[in-house]
Amino acid sequence: MARDYYGILGVDKNATDAEIKKAYRKLARKYHPDVNDTEEGAEMFKKLSTAYEVLNDPEKRRIVDMGGDPLENGGGQPGAGGYGGGFGDIFEAFFGGGGGTRRGPRSRVQPGNDALLRTEITLEEAYAGVRKDITVDTAVLCDHCTGTGSESKAKPVTCPTCQGAGEIQEVQRSFLGNVMTTRPCHQCQGYGEIIEDPCRKCDGEGRIRKRRDLTVTVPAGIADGMRIRMAGQGEVGHGGGPAGDLYVETRLKPHATYLRDGDNLHVNVKVPMVDAALGTSLSMTDLAGETITLDVPQGVQPAEEIVLNGEGMPRLRSEGHGDLIAHINVTVPEDLNKRERELLEELRGLRGENSSVDEEDEGGFFSRLRGKFAR
Ligand SMILES: [Zn+2]
Ligand SMILES: [Zn+2]
Repeated sequence: MARDYYGILGVDKNATDAEIKKAYRKLARKYHPDVNDTEEGAEMFKKLSTAYEVLNDPEKRRIVDMGGDPLENGGGQPGAGGYGGGFGDIFEAFFGGGGGTRRGPRSRVQPGNDALLRTEITLEEAYAGVRKDITVDTAVLCDHCTGTGSESKAKPVTCPTCQGAGEIQEVQRSFLGNVMTTRPCHQCQGYGEIIEDPCRKCDGEGRIRKRRDLTVTVPAGIADGMRIRMAGQGEVGHGGGPAGDLYVETRLKPHATYLRDGDNLHVNVKVPMVDAALGTSLSMTDLAGETITLDVPQGVQPAEEIVLNGEGMPRLRSEGHGDLIAHINVTVPEDLNKRERELLEELRGLRGENSSVDEEDEGGFFSRLRGKFAR
């Protein structure tokens, strides 16, 4: 029977080469012998590699799409289906099991994987920089056997089943004659050596899982999504192998007052109509908790921007700060009392102004509007 190569990779029959490759990589990472020691994992990895080999080859994929299996009878023609399963094994013997079989023993001591952790910081923390306490849960060196994996800390011995080769060769009879197949050794899982008295704390792994508290130094000016590398704080490898790195990804919490845009900060400032006409100054608290003064000039217009140079975020890896941009939001009173209305009526009389259509675009309204549309 034709195998479901698309199903193995979990992709659609119309999947592009790139999608097939992506699906394969994703699954192969999960079942790679270095991360998945189980027999099922090894089997799955073989299947994945075979499926990828087939679908990555336009000629073989064409056979699959025609309902055949390029690995069964050399072309998907009907009539030879009976030998299907046997031929698959022979193919694996000839071609190294589609990438799943290793040559010779693999090292028992493997380098550890990197680890990733996310932490949330406030805009104030990003502004000033912060030392953040984090808890990580990774594989660490087994303190009972100090990574040797042995209760008595004895050195591993050569595996008696495979004599240290890490794999076993078997001769199988088939309709093509005797065929040699190679499989990873089950006694030593392909390491070629075994620990005779496995450590009872780590079961011979040389590593255990443990929660640890660390402090990460977040530099001032860090952006959302940036990763800080902590060398050697990742997972300890199999057999007590050197630890990978820990990456701490910083997620910035939104701020109620300030909006960050790169090194610049934006703030919305409400200016009552009368203040806008007369000018004013107001104070606000910056991200360092200090009071800064914003001078609003008389005659400030709605949507005008006042830029405070150097009051924005500190620049990461360089000197200085970005800018603070105050967006002026002129507010108009909606609830005038009698006295206020009289005063404004009097002012209107003095100003002698009328509302009118702007025939010359004096305020540059259209050009501003066009600028907005162009964005
Ligand atoms: Zn141990
Ligand atoms: Zn062995």
